[in-house]
This record gives sequence, structure tokens and C-alpha cells, in this order.
Amino acid sequence: MKFGLIGEKLSHSYSPLIHRLFFNITGIKGEYKLFEIERKNIGEFLQNARMDKFAGLNVTIPYKTDVIPFLDELSPEAEKINAVNTISFNDRVRGYNTDYFGLDCTFNKHRVSVNGRKVLVMGSGGAAKAVVSYLLDKKAKEIYIASRDNAKAGEKFPEVMAISYSDIIEYCPFDIIINTTPVGMHPNTGVSPLTKEQVSGAVFLFDLIYNPSVTKLIEIADSLKISNTNGLYMLVAQAVKAQEIWHAGDYGIEIIDRIISEINKI
Ligand code: NAP
Repeated sequence: MKFGLIGEKLSHSYSPLIHRLFFNITGIKGEYKLFEIERKNIGEFLQNARMDKFAGLNVTIPYKTDVIPFLDELSPEAEKINAVNTISFNDRVRGYNTDYFGLDCTFNKHRVSVNGRKVLVMGSGGAAKAVVSYLLDKKAKEIYIASRDNAKAGEKFPEVMAISYSDIIEYCPFDIIINTTPVGMHPNTGVSPLTKEQVSGAVFLFDLIYNPSVTKLIEIADSLKISNTNGLYMLVAQAVKAQEIWHAGDYGIEIIDRIISEINKI
């Protein structure tokens, strides 16, 4: 069965490895390839993928919203978030957002509930859309988005309070901090979107970055003894959920840890 990932720059993607491990563990015969495409070719690519009998595709930066006009229908999460990271090809071409599922799995794994919490989200891009949708659904009490352009972020996320980085300290402390910016990501490691003072007082910090596994922001959380996680569990959980959609199967939550333990051996 043919699967793949479309995006702009994919050379550092972990997805082929995660899906290969999924195939090894489940015994499913599949191939998962990377497709770097230009925005103008998205429609043609999806049309060809349908003809070439692809079973499913993932979508990443920066095309999670651009693919939507070329799909027949959306799942309720994808519709609400207005972003698609998984496409299934059956009679109809359907878009899903499994990042939302990956977020839920990560919070559940760490036994953290966002209900009633004061939450700071850094960044207002694609991942922030899934994060904010999740926080609203799970009834976080106060949601703040820190952005380099808080006016624009405020227009994009009217349900939350958009603030600039220089104003963050006025609103501290936050119960939960979620980084959806690429600040600290390979190869530009060693930098953090927040200072120690801004992180102080949080009970949980979630950095969506998975490479490196310990970002500068996570180092700060560790130094303050704040419970934290990187984005690897979310990344593997969204991949497993995509496979469940493509095979209409249920592989159990344990497969996420099995895949992560295989990745950690490499
Ligand atoms: P994106 O759409 O490009 O959004 C990133 C946002 O971060 C931007 O909209 C911007 O918000 C902010 N930003 C970008 N460069 C910045 C800089 N130099 N300094 C401060 N803020 C900056 O990307 P995305 O899809 O949301 O992904 C963001 C990160 O999350 C990436 O590291 C990605 O790998 C990770 N991610 C992980 C998972 C997972 O499963 N673990 C899933 C999705 C994404 P403002 O303009 O408002 O400042």
C-alpha cells in the first residue's frame, strides 16, 4: 500500500522512520515516501495520487490549509481547525487533523488536564490552530497567545488573548506553557522563546519541537523542576492515528511507546 508525506522541505522528517516502524510492528505491508512539492502543484499531485491508488497521505508545513480546496470532505476536527495533516483516498478524498489527537494523547499520557487552567501558547501558526482548538474544547480557563505580531494573531484567534513577548511577564505565572514556534529547533538550538522568569510558576510545559529532544526551553523547565515534554509523543501519536484512519483499525495506545523506544535505540 502506498503512503507518503507532502510538504515544502522534508529532508529532516521523522515520518518515514515512524511509519516504517509502524509497518514492522504491525506486519502491514506498506511504503511511505516523501514528496517535496511546490504550492502550485498541490492540486495536480493530489489528483495523480488518487489515480495512482495511494491509500493515504500526510501533509506538513506549509500546506496544511492549502490542500483543503482539493479534498471532497473534512472530518469535524479538520473543519474546525481549518487544517489537514492526513488525507484518506477512498471513494471520497477526506481530510483529517490528527495533530489534535496527538495533543490529546500527550496531555493524557502526562495526566495533565487543561480544564480550568491558565495557558500560554507561543506562536500563531498551523500547530497553534490545533492547540487553541483543543484548549477551547477542553475548557481552559484563560488562553494567551504570544506572537511577534499580536494584532495579527488577535485577528486569527479572536477567542483568545493575543499578547506580545514583551508583555508576557505582566501575565505570569501561567499554569501550562505550550511552545508552537520553531525557536530552539535543530539546527538553531540553544535558544528559547521564553526566559526562566517567564516560565517560572508553571505546572506543565509542552514544547512541540522533537529535534532536539531537549530544547533550551525544556532545559529551563527542568532547572525549575517543572514537569515537561517534547513533541515526539505527539508526532508518533498523530502518525499512528493516521494509520488507524487509513486501515480503519485500532492499534492501541501502547504502540506509540513501542515506536518511541525503537526510535530511541537508533
Ligand atoms: P508555522 O505554521 O510556521 O508556525 C510557527 C509559528 O511560530 C509562526 O506562525 C510564528 O508565529 C512563530 N514563529 C516562527 N518563527 C519564529 C521566530 N523566529 N521567533 C518567534 N516566533 C516564531 O509552523 P507549525 O506547523 O505551527 O510548526 C511549529 C513548530 O511545531 C515546529 O517546530 C514543528 O516542528 C512543531 N510541530 C510539532 C508537531 C508534533 O507532532 N510534535 C506537530 C506540528 C508542529 P508569530 O508570527 O505569531 O510569532
